[in-house]
Amino acid sequence: MAQAQQAKAQKITPRAKDFSEWYGDVIMQAQLADYSPVRGCMVIRPHGYRMWELMQRALDDLIKATGHKNAYFPLFIPMSFLAKEAEHVEGFAKEVALVTHTRLRATGKEGKDAIAVDPTSALEEPLVVRPTSETIIYAMFAKWIQSYRDLPLLMNQWCNVVRWELRTRLFLRTTEFLWQEGHTAHADEPGAEREARTILDQVYRRFAEEWMAMPVITGVKTDSEKFAGALRTYAIEALMQDNKALQAGTSHNLGQNFAKAINVQYQTTTGGLEYVWNTSWGVTTRLIGGIIMTHSDDNGLIAPPKVAPVQVVIVPIWKADDEKGQVSGVGGRVKADLEKLGVRVEHDIRDTMKPGAKYFEWEALGVPVRLEIGPRDLASGQVVLARRTGGKGPVPLQGVVASVTKALDEIQSSLFIAAKERREQNSIRGATKAQFLEFMNGKGGFVYGGFCGSGTCEAEIKQETNATVRVLPDPEFRSKEAPKTCMWCGKSSIAEAVWAQAY
Ligand SMILES: [Zn+2]
Repeated sequence: MAQAQQAKAQKITPRAKDFSEWYGDVIMQAQLADYSPVRGCMVIRPHGYRMWELMQRALDDLIKATGHKNAYFPLFIPMSFLAKEAEHVEGFAKEVALVTHTRLRATGKEGKDAIAVDPTSALEEPLVVRPTSETIIYAMFAKWIQSYRDLPLLMNQWCNVVRWELRTRLFLRTTEFLWQEGHTAHADEPGAEREARTILDQVYRRFAEEWMAMPVITGVKTDSEKFAGALRTYAIEALMQDNKALQAGTSHNLGQNFAKAINVQYQTTTGGLEYVWNTSWGVTTRLIGGIIMTHSDDNGLIAPPKVAPVQVVIVPIWKADDEKGQVSGVGGRVKADLEKLGVRVEHDIRDTMKPGAKYFEWEALGVPVRLEIGPRDLASGQVVLARRTGGKGPVPLQGVVASVTKALDEIQSSLFIAAKERREQNSIRGATKAQFLEFMNGKGGFVYGGFCGSGTCEAEIKQETNATVRVLPDPEFRSKEAPKTCMWCGKSSIAEAVWAQAY
């Protein structure tokens, strides 16, 4: 058994050896996703998709609780629409997929030449496969918004988008991905600003920290990192175990840029015409990559209980057949009791596998709690509860449900605390240029430092260290003493910035 376990464990490259290999191995062993025949696109497997569904459900509830309604808009956007907002077209032009024809025809030849594009089916205007939907959604807003009474208009859509990526990585950067995109229209600037912040603070940050157990820094992006066409972009940023930052969600105050480009106007209370103020915001399946890189270990995935596809696995242990009946009978009852409380449970009664091999499999799948039910423990009225995050011991069979739910709660909060401690241990404040360079060339992490606001400094730093300003942090995250000078050029600082190498 021990040998078999070891052989299996070796399928996952240790983090210390190669973080990127480890990441891919965890995904494969946890059966979250797989590479597809289409380059750059991934297949989300049932275990990964279940996790996405759970995340989606929680996020959707938060989005609706803040007053938004779901709708659905077309996958295709006329090419001319994308060109309407100058910065926006610039930002997305290099990565769009285009539909130019609508038919194939049989050629009468064989093999891969048997079909060809029908040249007579060329579209008059090519269609862009949506990389994001501002232009098409605001074209509809223009139709639906007449007066101040129609505002604010608060919408969200769950869909897929396509951005043609050359270098892809499962969940983190794929050509097609799943996301939600919120789009809103407001009567004035404060309305849009409030909205952008509400989404960041009350939806995205809350979801990241309370469901994913992933602590984030909130703040505003610099001009060079903001969304193409936005007035301001806010973001939540998390630090992964390899000390690279993950931009986990963005919320944009779009100002009136799109409204002016697309002509979305409303009649004011005094009868005049005004352009609306828009916001847009999104999080994607990239969040699953964030969960993996925040919590998992060399044995595989560690899923925070709130988004774990399976929260508890019950493994009965038996030698003789009469024992099997007894332990699996108890297992079945415990499963039913847990399910009554809404706990997601599997009862692994496969007799083709030894318990140790089962433990390994469920560990790799990230299941937070395992219950081992054996005849000896049952004789003394107990079962064994093992936590994916470490620690195992007997708990009384009477009251096992309470022990399990308590363990799930504790795992959820301990994951968050551990991730936050790790982030703080890998952050430095008030760094000099020399310290910054040493840090970025070494283990990396978050560096808080003064920033003059100049794009030149940003470009030089990126060139030399590959680090970027993740955010100009909100007050809660700022250093006690505001930096006086730019960490890079020594000119006076206009804001403290958080720097890191990022995904
Ligand atoms: Zn500077």
